[in-house]
Amino acid sequence: MKEKKGSMLKKWFMPYFVIHKRVVIIDLLCASLTTIAELVLPMLVRRITEIAVNNIAELTVRVILEMAALYAFLKGIDMLAGYYMIYVGHTMGVKIEKSMREDMFSHLLRVPLSYYDSTKVGQLMSRITTDMFDVAEFSHHCPEEFFICGLKLIVSFAVLASINLPLTLVSFAMLPLMLFGTLYFRRKMHEVFKARRVIAGDVNARTETSLLGIRVIKSFTQEKHEEKLFKEESTKLSETQKASYRYMARLNSVVRFFDGMMYVVMILMGGMFILKGKITTADYTAYLLYDAMLIAAIKRIVEFIEQFEKGLTGIERFAQVMEVENEKGYSETKQLEKVEGEIEFKDLTFSYGDEKDDVLEHVNIKIKKGENVAVVGPSGSGKTTMCSLISRFYEVSDGEITLDGKNISSLELSSLRNAIGMVEQEVYMFSGTVYENILYGNPCASREDVVEAAKLAGAHEFVMNLPNGYDTFIGERGTMLSGGQKQRISIARVFLKNPPVLILDEATSALDNKSEQIIKKSLETLAKGRTTLTIAHRLSTIKNADRILVLTENGIEEQGSHEELLKLGGIYYRLYNNL
Ligand code: ADP
Ligand code: MG
Repeated sequence: MKEKKGSMLKKWFMPYFVIHKRVVIIDLLCASLTTIAELVLPMLVRRITEIAVNNIAELTVRVILEMAALYAFLKGIDMLAGYYMIYVGHTMGVKIEKSMREDMFSHLLRVPLSYYDSTKVGQLMSRITTDMFDVAEFSHHCPEEFFICGLKLIVSFAVLASINLPLTLVSFAMLPLMLFGTLYFRRKMHEVFKARRVIAGDVNARTETSLLGIRVIKSFTQEKHEEKLFKEESTKLSETQKASYRYMARLNSVVRFFDGMMYVVMILMGGMFILKGKITTADYTAYLLYDAMLIAAIKRIVEFIEQFEKGLTGIERFAQVMEVENEKGYSETKQLEKVEGEIEFKDLTFSYGDEKDDVLEHVNIKIKKGENVAVVGPSGSGKTTMCSLISRFYEVSDGEITLDGKNISSLELSSLRNAIGMVEQEVYMFSGTVYENILYGNPCASREDVVEAAKLAGAHEFVMNLPNGYDTFIGERGTMLSGGQKQRISIARVFLKNPPVLILDEATSALDNKSEQIIKKSLETLAKGRTTLTIAHRLSTIKNADRILVLTENGIEEQGSHEELLKLGGIYYRLYNNL
């Protein structure tokens, strides 16, 4: 377990950390400078006490001033060093946080879609924000605090041992006890904090799914139900929060116990030593001051352990994301030159996971260049899945898909995806302007191209009627547009992309009749000269397809033109006549 953590840190944290080694070194130097003043203070007090006890006449104003000046000088250094530690030290943490956050986001863009089938986006959001912040704090404080504590231990041991060895040995013997006592609780606390993190992410995720569905909630008047669901997550969170504080309190009590023990021993042994004349008053004073400093140092470490735990948990969760493998195909080098658009499914079998049933089994389809093929079939028969496979959103389980005779899994991903345009039932709008949303189809396009694409998609007219035309800001997810308008923008996007292969997956299913008629026309224009795969559940919309495939759970059961299939009197015939 420990080894695993070590290699995790080495792999996922050190590369970000070592870049800043210069800052770390100066930071540690500053840390030593700030401890000097603290370490010198007991010596000064000891000296004053010594002079006062031995010969009060020697304690002149000059001596006192000298000492005060020395201490003031050291404190001045302490101030400057402290400034560096807090400002530059934290800035280093911020830089580390920034690169890790950006790497994580870039990675999230490249993991396979299947990862998102089983991951809550809310969880990922808290990883990118809260977790990375904790890592920043960790990267700066962890080396610093341990270094300061170590330094204080070593120096005070050396000084104290030179004053009185037995007393020093006894008090230092208690420190490991203190440490082991805390270690046990530390481990417990780590587990609870980890659980707390996961649950905090769940609360995020709950908030996200609920509020994104606010329209549904309101229309079904399910506020109470959502409240109940939220309350469940929220209660779970507060329970683990409570548990985490319970462990923190226990840890704290252990520290206080040892702290008390230390003073009891000091009073007992120190008193006896003074009684027997084995230690001077001045030394004893210095002793007490050093002990107070040591206890404070250990307490600080224990307090920081909470932060270190959080940082470690954050790194662990960062590693979990980063260890998800990238989508295959980024490393392929085979680029598609000029795409003709001939698609073939060769004995294709696919399932969404090893344990899941096959969605498609031994499917064979050949779509010629420029052909317009429609797929019909009951819901759940795997039509959308077929589309996803052509774009290689998922990896086929068996068999292969070829584009222009080349196995798509041998092609570089972006060159494959650039060749395919998709219009789906659900349209996603990025928060931004209409113009930006269309430009998404081809970021290099000119303004004229965008307007031209919008005209072809039948979007130009309504866009011009928006308050700011193309520069109208459409709310998050395009809430300001109707379904048909959004669909027209998504079609404009594909016009702009101008791909040789077109996939229309229930593109008009969610629309009313009138919108459907308008959009059907744009889609027909769009399909011209492209290999097109149309999926529709309203059979009237696909009558004109060159070929219709009927997909059922048994695979492609029938195929042919509309007339041929009707003559056949099979599944298509029954579907078409609503039998
Ligand atoms: P269609 O588009 O024909 O209605 P789909 O291709 O969406 O059907 O779904 C085919 C089958 O695959 C269904 O049984 C569905 O439950 C399953 N399925 C679809 N998407 C996923 C997914 N991301 N993970 C697991 N199973 C899925
Ligand atoms: Mg579907």
